[in-house]
Amino acid sequence: MSLPAPPLCHELTAWHTSLAGPTPLHGRLLGSRNAWGGGQYAGEYAAASPCTYRQLAQIRLEPLLREQAEASPLARMHFGAEVVEIDQDDTSARVLVKRAGAVQAVSGRYLIGADGGRTIGPGLGIGVTGPTNLVDMVSVHFTADLSAWRDPRVMITWFVNPDLGGSAGLLYPIGPWDDLGHSREWNFVFAIGADDPRRLSEEAARGRLLGTLGIGAQPVTVHSVSHWYIQAVVADAFRSGRCFLAGDAAHRVPPWGALGMNTGIGDVRNLCWKLALALADPAFEGLPDSYEPERRPVAESVAANSLASFYEGGSVIDAALGQSAAQSAREGWRNIAMMWKDGPDGDARRDAMAKAVDSLDREFHAHGADCGFAYARGAIQRLPRSAPAENDPVTYRATTTPGHHLPHFWIGEEGSRERSTTDLIRPDRFLLLTDTAAPQWARWASSLDGPLAAAIEVEKVSAAQTSPDHESTWGRLREVGDTGAILIRPDGIVAWRWMNQPRDGAAELRHALEQIASPDR
Ligand SMILES: Cc1cc2nc3c(=O)[nH]c(=O)nc-3n(C[C@H](O)[C@H](O)[C@H](O)COP(=O)(O)OP(=O)(O)OC[C@H]3O[C@@H](n4cnc5c(N)ncnc54)[C@H](O)[C@@H]3O)c2cc1C
Repeated sequence: MSLPAPPLCHELTAWHTSLAGPTPLHGRLLGSRNAWGGGQYAGEYAAASPCTYRQLAQIRLEPLLREQAEASPLARMHFGAEVVEIDQDDTSARVLVKRAGAVQAVSGRYLIGADGGRTIGPGLGIGVTGPTNLVDMVSVHFTADLSAWRDPRVMITWFVNPDLGGSAGLLYPIGPWDDLGHSREWNFVFAIGADDPRRLSEEAARGRLLGTLGIGAQPVTVHSVSHWYIQAVVADAFRSGRCFLAGDAAHRVPPWGALGMNTGIGDVRNLCWKLALALADPAFEGLPDSYEPERRPVAESVAANSLASFYEGGSVIDAALGQSAAQSAREGWRNIAMMWKDGPDGDARRDAMAKAVDSLDREFHAHGADCGFAYARGAIQRLPRSAPAENDPVTYRATTTPGHHLPHFWIGEEGSRERSTTDLIRPDRFLLLTDTAAPQWARWASSLDGPLAAAIEVEKVSAAQTSPDHESTWGRLREVGDTGAILIRPDGIVAWRWMNQPRDGAAELRHALEQIASPDR
């Protein structure tokens, strides 16, 4: 069995009345569409990244991350330890840690609070803005063989059941997977009233799961029932003195769009190289100032999109299928039955459902939100036009405009798929990407002195390099001329670019590095 889902398992998302059940209207497919880079989006996603899109459940990812962290000589992990107090001055941050009944003080030059928003943010007096506790959600983690009913290409199945008021819950596989793409374990998620006395009952959750799926006597083992709230909040500050907030401590977003943890990983990728430089040389102490202006707008945009997708998804589908909480279940089923009726009323219902399913691009075709977010200001070139970065959730447009990610382009031998431009990025140094026809940039880079100069690596890629994926050349994608250059930060963000050869490249590079070291706040 494999831990990540095979690539075919995220091609589709689908809406059903149930998986099975007692009437001809149960177990019916209401609609489906491609999603998450699958099917019709496969080419677009393949052109944007050297990595394939894979689903790996968080309970499977976290042990892998832990293994890596424990193997690192730089990290020490302490489980069962609770931060109970936080304090800082101009040179260091300190926490009091409670472990096995003892309290110990730990200090460092910087502190990253990645505690899901429980202690560090409130301890620093940082509030959050945005709606909280919108809906009480229940997740049921269970094992069952659903292979008789589920198309393995579908990642999320949504249920619309008039007996349960319309949108009734969602089901997704969490692996491990067999070779045919069937998952052993699942998560079933549904909303429950905040005052409902059954909200903490495992038996009630099991009843709701079986009632929605309609799989009769099929054996089901429930592992856990957990609660969480829909919220879309962003911290009012991502930094206080020497302390930074990252991950859910900085933003907690609805999982519609699957970007909560991904955005948290983006936070630390943005922050860690800056802290490393600031620790290495006092000249870069101002560099971490760019963390908040770069990451906060991204978090705000993810929170807004995820919340809109949460509201949009259920309501658009319910409206198309004629479902409303005010009507009787009988009326709701009658409206759903129209999906299979001949004649104009049936055509209208099918048409409404197809249009509703197609309209949900913000959630299911969010290529721009997945990998196109960009920074408008921070440790990047100050462009004459201070236009805000376009964070279009649907469209990803590869560009080397400063603030954007270095575009992926295959640069292996004879167009092989072995090496990408993104493989040139190093976590501990800047990358100066030039053309093979512009050797002067390497000379300019090596003529620099000062700490950042040692952290520049020059790589040359010919404009004529062609990609096996699409009819394009690197010369076209990189947007700069043959004598130009692109300076990329350790987190893969374009910091600066020169469209053509400047008169004094060494002076230009020196100026760029100085500006990056003291960024916009
Ligand atoms: C149903 C659901 C589905 C989701 N699906 C996705 C998805 O598909 N993709 C995605 O990217 N994200 C998804 N998310 C979001 C994702 O789970 C979170 O964004 C992510 O877990 C946040 O990680 P974190 O490390 O910042 O915070 P947390 O996961 O909350 O971890 C914080 C840790 O800090 C510890 N801690 C707290 N206080 C203290 C203290 N005082 N001292 C010491 N330790 C402390 C906690 O015990 C915890 O271990 C989903 C969330 C939910 C609820």
